[in-house]
Amino acid sequence: MTSVTARAPGRVNLIGDHTDYNGGLCLPFAVPMSTTTVARPRGDDRLRIRSKAFPKSWTGRLDDLTLDGRDTIPDWVRYVTGVLWAAREDGWPLPGLDLVIDSELPLGSGLSSSAALECSVAIAVGTLVDRPLDPGSRQPLAELCRRAETEYVGAPTGGMDQLASLLGKPDHAVLIDFADLSVRQVPLALREAGLVVLVTDTGTAHQLAGPDSGYAQRRAECDAAAAVLDLPRIGLAWADDLSRLEDDVQRARARHVLSESARVEDVLAAVAAGDWTAVGAILTASHTSLRGDFDASTPALDLAVFTAVDAGALGARLTGGGFGGSAIALVEEERADVVREAVDAAFADAELATPTHLTVLPSAGASVSRSG
Ligand code: ADP
Ligand code: MG
Repeated sequence: MTSVTARAPGRVNLIGDHTDYNGGLCLPFAVPMSTTTVARPRGDDRLRIRSKAFPKSWTGRLDDLTLDGRDTIPDWVRYVTGVLWAAREDGWPLPGLDLVIDSELPLGSGLSSSAALECSVAIAVGTLVDRPLDPGSRQPLAELCRRAETEYVGAPTGGMDQLASLLGKPDHAVLIDFADLSVRQVPLALREAGLVVLVTDTGTAHQLAGPDSGYAQRRAECDAAAAVLDLPRIGLAWADDLSRLEDDVQRARARHVLSESARVEDVLAAVAAGDWTAVGAILTASHTSLRGDFDASTPALDLAVFTAVDAGALGARLTGGGFGGSAIALVEEERADVVREAVDAAFADAELATPTHLTVLPSAGASVSRSG
């Protein structure tokens, strides 16, 4: 095999934010935009990694794929070398590699360009070393990529993004139960219902990596709440347990996690009943909880969400963790332009930079597009 081209999509999380690392439920779907990696084996032990999103390529060696070796590697390259590191830990016999990466996804805006990058690299390289992409390998590959992002890059993500990218399916969402890591593709026939999801990137990049990020703080608060209740993760608590949390902040964080998982179940019931108005209302309730109890919103996200609802969206919420990044709105297709223009006007009034928008529908998961 001389080269493999693999694509892996980004994702939008319809509902279920900050539930992944807490043992709760979430419901993402793969979007049409993806990242593509072309992988070529080399005859030596060198690694050459290039992304069209960055001017400089990086060159190193297989021996650099250690946790200590990562310190001198540029931030963006670590998402790639992290996957190669995790693959080697799993015993993949890696040759030297040339990797060329190209993406249609905005970076750092909540559509999970990081997971798309990791998954496309893992699939392309896996195909080269006889770890082919098949139904049984998708979930383990997602776990490999999650480990790369958590243990090597240092962004403590829960694994939703990688599972959505690998297990997405047209007109379906991916229901993930992080209590037991079970995954199920569930119908989400937005297209048939004449609906789209409007994604508004507020242009304020969210920063999830690093020990001081809001994400890491929330995660620590959730872990602390779980420890008080003597549980491994706070999502495994019952609603009755909340009163045993004396710390107001911990109780609020836990209340979000538990109510958010309940809302995922409510959305599933409303989708099954074809009640899209109810789905929208639950999405907006999710935002209220993320803004209040979880304190993960920003003024720009609030403006995008509440303007969209005022302009006729069925519901809206921040997505992908918050602290900046993107909001989504569930909108009738023919109303999407009106909502978009209303959000742009509100941002202009607030003297915020014009946001960027995309409309998405649940799309196919990762694939190998070419090998030869
Ligand atoms: P998101 O996953 O929501 O886009 P993250 O902060 O998790 O945001 O990941 C964004 C980071 O992932 C970028 O800053 C960059 O380091 C890396 N990344 C993602 N896509 C690419 C790409 N195509 N080329 C190089 N680096 C990328
Ligand atoms: Mg990410």
